[in-house]
Amino acid sequence: MMYHRPALHAEETPENRGEILLRLVRYLRPYWKSVLASVFFILISAGAQAAGPLLIGQAVDQFIAANDPAGLGRTALLLAGVYTVGMFAMRFQIYWMSWSGQQVLADLRMQVMRQIHRLSLQNLEGEEAGDLMSRLVNDIEMINAFLSQGLVQTLGSLFALVGIVIAMLALNLPLALVTMAIIPVMILATGFFSRLARRAFRRTRETIGDVSAELEEELSGVKTAQAFNRSDFNIRRFEERNAANRDANVTANAVTSAFSPAMDLLSTLDTAAVAGFGGYLAVQGQVSVGVVVAFLQYVQNFFRPIQTVTQIWTSAQSAFAAAERVFELLDQEPAVKDLPRAADLPTVRGEVVFEDVSFGYEDGQPVLQGITLKAQPGETIALVGPTGAGKSTLVSLLLRLYDVESGRILVDGYDIRQMTQHSLRSQMGVVTQDPFLFSGTVMENIRYGRLDAGDEAVYAAARAANAHDFIERLPGGYQTQVGERGGMLSQGQRQLITIARALLADPRILILDEATASVDTRTEALIQRALERLLEGRTSFVIAHRLSTVKHADQVLVLDGGRIVQRGTHEELLSGGGLYADLYRRLQFDPAQTVQPEPAAADAP
Ligand code: ADP
Repeated sequence: MMYHRPALHAEETPENRGEILLRLVRYLRPYWKSVLASVFFILISAGAQAAGPLLIGQAVDQFIAANDPAGLGRTALLLAGVYTVGMFAMRFQIYWMSWSGQQVLADLRMQVMRQIHRLSLQNLEGEEAGDLMSRLVNDIEMINAFLSQGLVQTLGSLFALVGIVIAMLALNLPLALVTMAIIPVMILATGFFSRLARRAFRRTRETIGDVSAELEEELSGVKTAQAFNRSDFNIRRFEERNAANRDANVTANAVTSAFSPAMDLLSTLDTAAVAGFGGYLAVQGQVSVGVVVAFLQYVQNFFRPIQTVTQIWTSAQSAFAAAERVFELLDQEPAVKDLPRAADLPTVRGEVVFEDVSFGYEDGQPVLQGITLKAQPGETIALVGPTGAGKSTLVSLLLRLYDVESGRILVDGYDIRQMTQHSLRSQMGVVTQDPFLFSGTVMENIRYGRLDAGDEAVYAAARAANAHDFIERLPGGYQTQVGERGGMLSQGQRQLITIARALLADPRILILDEATASVDTRTEALIQRALERLLEGRTSFVIAHRLSTVKHADQVLVLDGGRIVQRGTHEELLSGGGLYADLYRRLQFDPAQTVQPEPAAADAP
């Protein structure tokens, strides 16, 4: 089944940086106590940084000038004490802030996880899995770096800066003004650099997303690529994307590495200005030498926080871009939502009714029109028709992956739009063409159908699915680890495991997208038998590719161009001619179908 690709990559608007920051900070709210503790320690360490040069200046004026070694010793001790307290305060501040940052991060990751499960299939199916992976792993890591380091350093530096500015203003106004005259220049330079950096980092994020998506695709498609001799083509395409990412990183590094030297230059100029102007004032007798010494210290300490903040600001750009993408995902609304007063669907018998249902993915382009059908509990409904007829769409509507445009779908007489999605889907099972196994053991994969099932129930389901024998023969039996896509298992074996999983879940309504996969005849026969057991006693909608399925179906619905054009049993339809007769001929001549033994004989022990 294919679902349309949602527009996840909204235009990035640099103006909403403030909003993003605010939203990130809002995540800190539950942890305000530790944030407060951190701020307390920040204040102490900022005070210590401002007090240091003051003490040194005092020592110069009062004790060195007056040749008072005892006083000098006292000041030295005091200074050591102040710096020690400052150092410990800094440690505590970092500890508490990183702690809070990690809590926020864990919350964020959890939200993303929940959101992925909340969004319906069509929100995610279109996403390239690699791109989504990259988003979740890299973007959250970016935010991590920012929250656990950037934010702490920014706050620490800002407070330190405020302390230093106050101390300078209090010591000597003219000298303080001259020292700070450099600030506008710095802000301009920083603004320039951060604009460049934001652009550069955004480019690195985009290109690494491309690279991961390509890698993911290569990994899952390498067989096809080799079969079609497209390896060279694919490698070249990867080369391009890889190169784009490399260049983007080089540019980003060039931008950030030009920043420090520029700031150093400004710092040196400012130191010279303070020394010159301060020296002049001292000669004039307007300030003491101690004040000039203190100022020279301040200039150094004053540049460090500004530099830290601006540097973090540049790397914060990438954190903002990352946060923006994560929030974008979090803000997506599922296409299908429960009504405010949605009720839980009680346990159903499995009657399914479509009443004049119409639906289209896009406005003005109907995909299904006037679909009316009734499935009695336990009946098998085979859906046949050419590709694009609307078979997958019909079952998507029953699963309520989309809401109907007009008409109604009733399960046991309940309009499914009035019911919670959870209660509806918990009574439905889906077995698709492409059997998906999670990484974990075979046991876990089957138990996924019903988490509280005991081992015996799992074995029983596996036996009913004709999977038990081959599982026992696996190196680790039921404890064999299977990879994301089923790794070493054959397509047919994976199919059997997913059938066992569905059997264990025991849904009232089953949707089966029949495999046309080429499996060997013996396995095909096993699958066939297993499917028959699976269909037994459940209302089933089968997108049919097997002749035997249509033969045994209670109703066959022939779809064409979004309408049901023929309906009846296999025999009735066959004698009627038309589209069905055509399709039947094709099924009949499909070699995979004709060599198939009769199901009863195929049930191997
Ligand atoms: P079938 O399962 O019979 O092959 P589908 O239900 O997949 O048919 O498709 C029916 C029609 O709807 C086709 O024309 C197909 O292109 C279109 N379609 C299917 N999925 C989407 C989608 N997610 N967005 C837009 N059009 C779609």
